[in-house]
Amino acid sequence: MSQAPDAAPRPTANMFDVEAVRAEFPILAQEVNGRPLVYLDNGATSQKPRRVIDAIRRYYESDNANVHRGLHALSGRATDAFEGARDTVRAFLNAADRREIVFVRGATEGLNLVAQGWVRPRLGPDDEIVVTTMEHHSNIVPWQLVCRQTGARLRVVPIHDDGTLDMEAFAGLLNERTKVVAVAHVSNALGTINPVREIIAMAHDVGAVTVLDGAQAAPHGAVDVQALDCDFYVFSSHKCYGPSGMGVLWGRAERLDEAEPYQGGGDMIRTVSFEESTWNDLPYKFEAGTPNIAGAIGLGAAIEFVTALGMDAIAAYEHEVLEYATEALGEMGGIRIIGTAPEKAGIVSFVVDGVHPHDVGTIADQNGVAIRAGHHCAMPLMRRYRVPATSRASLALYNTRADIDALVAGLHKVKEIFDR
Ligand code: PMP
Repeated sequence: MSQAPDAAPRPTANMFDVEAVRAEFPILAQEVNGRPLVYLDNGATSQKPRRVIDAIRRYYESDNANVHRGLHALSGRATDAFEGARDTVRAFLNAADRREIVFVRGATEGLNLVAQGWVRPRLGPDDEIVVTTMEHHSNIVPWQLVCRQTGARLRVVPIHDDGTLDMEAFAGLLNERTKVVAVAHVSNALGTINPVREIIAMAHDVGAVTVLDGAQAAPHGAVDVQALDCDFYVFSSHKCYGPSGMGVLWGRAERLDEAEPYQGGGDMIRTVSFEESTWNDLPYKFEAGTPNIAGAIGLGAAIEFVTALGMDAIAAYEHEVLEYATEALGEMGGIRIIGTAPEKAGIVSFVVDGVHPHDVGTIADQNGVAIRAGHHCAMPLMRRYRVPATSRASLALYNTRADIDALVAGLHKVKEIFDR
């Protein structure tokens, strides 16, 4: 998923055996409220395949020890598995160097690390940070904090009604004061796939550093940080079939070298004295304290799982289900889809005329269908569309047309109840 307009042709979805994939997810084989579970809340978090659960269990059952420290066999095995996961992530993002892969708690921590470690020491009152109207709070608030700390200004790129960025307005916001451009690769509330290569090139033209929030992109298509040519990229393990409490910050080695440590503690130092401490090499300079070892191992297993299926095949498959869902909801009438960009990932945000999204979510749940209702941590975006909230169905590689049919049946029930 490099960007929309020049994306590679999508392989046909029949390369993808969804029933075999579903069998890998034990949680899907259950009933909720007397109906087979239909899980359409993958934008919030995805389910975990058996091999991820097994990898974590195996680690705790046979290899558990602290990493980088002990001389004993278990510590060696734990370190190998932990560092092996780093290699897996490097390949997943096509990063040039394993030192550029920093393990963090999630996309949120990655963004805060960049904001405090690289951006804050470099910003002054005349500087500007550019974000967009469709950002998740995690890609707004860390920059607001930096603005407060430095006196810099936050500038916001508006969007068109269909949920695409206003690129002309973006161009107009860029100038020699722009130090950072921080943008979602894919919007969690609209599904828009942003033209990130173009955005990155335009930002670099004015000397700004680029930060990509890949939380909703990395699980759903191939990401190549070298081809993107960005400076920082973050994503969360838990949306990518891995465990929670785990995530990745990729940063260009040169930028990470320039950044200040984000937290102090064990592992991030080379030497410590009461007068002065010195920092460890990348990426350890940013990994203070005992890391989430099982989390990294689980994420590694998740990435092996999706890469074996093929990221392009996953993107093609999910796109097909998205088109089916968009058509099905469109045909129902009385439903407004929020976010109709030509290039979208598998997210359908919508409002049902005259019904609060929370009621939609509750009635869907009674039918065994899990969707999200709320502001999706994107309050400014909700304001832009003048809605308090939306309902959101968000796809993963195990969703089927039958799942969409169940959602539609639930929505018919919503209409029946509220038409009475
Ligand atoms: N950015 C986007 C676009 C997201 O969808 C999310 C999660 N909803 C985040 C950032 C934050 O991710 P996490 O809570 O895993 O840190």
